[in-house]
Amino acid sequence: MSQEDGLKKVISHAKEYGFVFPSSEIYDGLSAAYDYGQLGSELKNNIKNYWWTAMVRMNDNIVGIDAAIFMHPKTWKASGHVDAFNDPLIDNKDSKKRYRADVLIEDHIAKIDKKIDKDVAKGLKRFGDSFNEAEFRATNTNVLRRQKTIDDINDRFKDAMNGENLDAVKALIEELEIVCPVSGSKNWTDVRQFNLMFNTELGAVSGDAGIIYLRPETAQGIFVNFLNVQKSGRMKLPFGIAQIGKAFRNEIIARQFIFRMREFEQMEMQFFVKPGTQAEWYEHWKAERKKWHASLGLGDENYRFHDHIKLAHYADAACDIEFNFPMGFKELEGVHSRTDFDLKSHEEHSGKKLRFFDPETKESFVPYVVETSIGLDRMFLAVLSNAYREEDLGEGNTRTVLKVPYALAPVKVAILPLVKKDGLPEKAEEILKILRINHNVQYDAKDGIGRRYRRQDAIGTPLCITIDHDSLEDNAVTVRERDGMTQERIAISDLASYVDARVSMATLFS
Ligand code: ATP
Repeated sequence: MSQEDGLKKVISHAKEYGFVFPSSEIYDGLSAAYDYGQLGSELKNNIKNYWWTAMVRMNDNIVGIDAAIFMHPKTWKASGHVDAFNDPLIDNKDSKKRYRADVLIEDHIAKIDKKIDKDVAKGLKRFGDSFNEAEFRATNTNVLRRQKTIDDINDRFKDAMNGENLDAVKALIEELEIVCPVSGSKNWTDVRQFNLMFNTELGAVSGDAGIIYLRPETAQGIFVNFLNVQKSGRMKLPFGIAQIGKAFRNEIIARQFIFRMREFEQMEMQFFVKPGTQAEWYEHWKAERKKWHASLGLGDENYRFHDHIKLAHYADAACDIEFNFPMGFKELEGVHSRTDFDLKSHEEHSGKKLRFFDPETKESFVPYVVETSIGLDRMFLAVLSNAYREEDLGEGNTRTVLKVPYALAPVKVAILPLVKKDGLPEKAEEILKILRINHNVQYDAKDGIGRRYRRQDAIGTPLCITIDHDSLEDNAVTVRERDGMTQERIAISDLASYVDARVSMATLFS
C-alpha cells in the first residue's frame, strides 16, 4: 500500500466508524479542523488518561493543572511568540495561493533526494549482490554532485533565515526556478514573516489594547503558575507541572489529516530543576517518555529519536520523538531542556520574582526547566494508523481490524446474546450492568454472530462475550479475543476480574 493510500484508508475508516469527522461537514468542512466522534472521543480520552496517570499519578513530585486558554497578552511578549513565532510566507500572484517559503525549498530538495535514490537504485541493478550502498553514496560522482547542491541550498537558506534576510530567501526560490504547484508560474510576491498566533478582541476594551491571543502552546499557562503551584502545593525541587489542553496555531500549510491542525491539543509537562542538573533530567525524561511509548507496543521500529542540531533560542538541548505515520517518520513529541529562559523572561516582563527558595542552602534562584510536549491528536493518529489492518483469514475471508492497544480501545467489551429471546437478552443485561461500571461496554444483538464480531473488530474491541443457551445452565459465557480470535469459556462470576486483567489501564503499567 502506498503512503498516500495508507493515510486515505485510515481517514475513511475513521469517518465510517465514528472516530473523526471533518469539522462542520454539512458546509463542506473547514480546512484543518476536525471533530472527534463517539468512538474517537473515547480513544482520545483513553490516551489522555494514560498520559495523565503516567505523569501525575505515578510521580509523587508532579501535579496537574488546567489553565485558561486566554492569557494576559504580555505573556506572549515574554515568551517570544509575539516577535518570533513566525513562518516565512510567499504568495503566488497568479494562483493567489500562499506557501511557506521553507516548505517550497524543502520540497525542491526532496526532489533532488529522489534523484539520488534513483541513482542508488540504478547502482544496485548494475552491481547486484556485490553492491555496497554506503560506498556508492560516498563515491559516485552523480550522487556527490547532487548532495553538494542540497548542502549549498540548505546553507544558503539557513544563512538567509539567521540573518533575517527575506530578500535572499526570495532570490533563492527564484534562482532554483521553483514554480507554484497550482499555476505553474514563477510569479512570486516578496517573502514576509507571518505570525502563527490567532488573535481576537476582549469585549470591554477597544483598539490594540484589547487584542488577546489564543494560546499557541499550553506551556506558558504552567510557567505563569509556577509560584502559585509551588507555594500552594509546598513543592520542592525537582518537581513537575503537567497539563492537557487546546492550543491554536494559524498554520499556513495544514494538511495530512489531524497531524497538523489549526486547533489541536497538547499534553505537556514542565519539570523544574536546580540549575546545573538539567542535562541529567533531560536524559531522564527522554528515557521515561521512551518507556511510556514502548508500553503501548506500537513497535520500537516505528519510533526514531532525533536530536536537534540547531536549537531554539530558549533551549540548551532538544530532541524530537518521531513516529512512523502513514506519511513516513514525523515529529510526534518533543523533549526540550528550556533553561531558565521562560521564568526569567516572565520575571522581567511582570516585575514579579519567580524563584525557588531552597530552605537548606538559604538560596533563592530561578529554576531550569526540562519539558516533554506531545500532541494528543498526533498520538491519536499514531495509535489509529498503527492499528489499522486488513487481514487475510484464508479461504477468501478477510477482516478489517483495529489492533489498538487493549487498554486504549474505545469499547472494551461487546456483549452479544446469541439470540434475542429465551432469556438470553436478560442474562446479557446482567453482565452489562456488572462490567459497565469500570469499562465502556457495548450491547449488540443484531445480525449473526460472525457479522457482529467483524463490526467489533473494525472498531478495535478487544473482547466479545457471547451469551448462549448453555449460559443459563452453567452461568458461563464464551469470551472471544480480538487479536488471536481464540475463544474461552469463563464463569460469569469471574468475568469482572478476567476483563480487568486484560483491558484495564493498569496493564500498561505492569
Ligand atoms: P512541527 O515542527 O511539526 O510544526 P513543532 O516543533 O512546532 O511541530 P512544538 O511547538 O514542539 O511543535 O509542539 C509540541 C507538540 O505539539 C508537537 O510535537 C506536536 O505533536 C504537537 N503539534 C504542534 N503543532 C501541531 C499542529 N498544528 N497540529 C497538531 N499537533 C501539533
